[in-house]
Amino acid sequence: MAIQIKTLEQMKIMRKAGLLVGQTLELLRDSIKVGMRTDALDAIAAASIKRGGGTSNFKGYHGFPATICVSINDEIVHGIPGDRVIEDGDVVSIDCGAIIDGWHGDAAISIGVGNVDPADQKMMDVCDESMWRGIAAGATGARLSDIGHAIEDYIKSQGKYGILQEYGGHGIGTEMHQEPHVLNFGRRGFGPILTEGFVLAIEPMITRGTHKTKVMADNWTVISTDNSRGAHFENSYCLLPDGKAFVLTAPDGGKERLGALGVEISTLL
Ligand code: MG
Ligand code: MG
Repeated sequence: MAIQIKTLEQMKIMRKAGLLVGQTLELLRDSIKVGMRTDALDAIAAASIKRGGGTSNFKGYHGFPATICVSINDEIVHGIPGDRVIEDGDVVSIDCGAIIDGWHGDAAISIGVGNVDPADQKMMDVCDESMWRGIAAGATGARLSDIGHAIEDYIKSQGKYGILQEYGGHGIGTEMHQEPHVLNFGRRGFGPILTEGFVLAIEPMITRGTHKTKVMADNWTVISTDNSRGAHFENSYCLLPDGKAFVLTAPDGGKERLGALGVEISTLL
């Protein structure tokens, strides 16, 4: 399938979906606490998306039974919310998506709950920053593989982490997962030139150990094979007619974090 190039008007609608996802994740960050069941987080997300005029794109996706993915500790992505209770020091990764007027938003955060191991906190900070570096590298006129190169380069500069290889970012628009696939590693200078109308979800997934993963018996939850803890951060961003980027799922459009990397965001959205 070809890459779906979006018009300014379409990206304006995608901002609505993205902002709802970003705000829902902020609400979940504010709500999460030790002793809470993960399905309580799912209920909060479902209510937030409904209140914001959206629908869930995760629920029913290839049969996925919930509104968000909740993945704890050695679970890296695609965990199913349920009766598991969040414990002190857990690393909780939450992936959330929503649709407004047929256009999709998709983002994820990892949260350390309670007394967090500093090594876990550093892993989360590294993963988060690598996502922003990937977006900054893909801001204007770059080639697709420059994103993965920037992500890998930064992660490797920060210590020994496993970068998941079977999972990556993606185009997003009238479907949650579109072409192109976005690797979180690799050499720069390959793939399509990133121009106006590209919308990409950038989502590095790392562990404190191996990059190798397996899928659990529930056919969804992805865990590290050495049971090392993992982190996952995701934002969806677009390239606008003024040649600048805007992060659709960040409440501030990416102004602060991209600004810190010397990248000015678009004012068109
Ligand atoms: Mg996601
Ligand atoms: Mg995604």
